[in-house]
Amino acid sequence: MTPGVGIWRCTKCRTGFFPQPLLCARCHNDRFETDRVHDAVVEEISVIRHMLGQENWQPRRIASVRTSDGQLITVGLTGEAGPGATIELYQEENAPFGRDKT
Ligand SMILES: [Zn+2]
Repeated sequence: MTPGVGIWRCTKCRTGFFPQPLLCARCHNDRFETDRVHDAVVEEISVIRHMLGQENWQPRRIASVRTSDGQLITVGLTGEAGPGATIELYQEENAPFGRDKT
C-alpha cells in the first residue's frame, strides 16, 4: 500500500494530470514531473455486482472522485464514504483506491 495517488505535473504551468497526458492541455508542454495527491471528494459511486468469469465476485464500489488538486479520477472505494465525503487516496499495485479519512 502506497499513500496517495501519483499524478503528472506540467513542469511549465504546474497543472496536474491523471493519467499521464502526451501534452499539457493548458500550455502544450510535453514535460512532466511526478507528484502525489492524497485527498479527494467523492462525486459519484457505482457498484460492480458481477464480473464475467468470476465465480466468487463480491460486489465492489468504484467512485469518481475530484482530487484536492483538481483531477477527476476513478478509484476503488473501500469503507463507507458516500457522495460529498472527503476520502484518503492510496495505491495498491498501482491501482488507485480511496478509503474513509481517519
Ligand atoms: Zn502546462
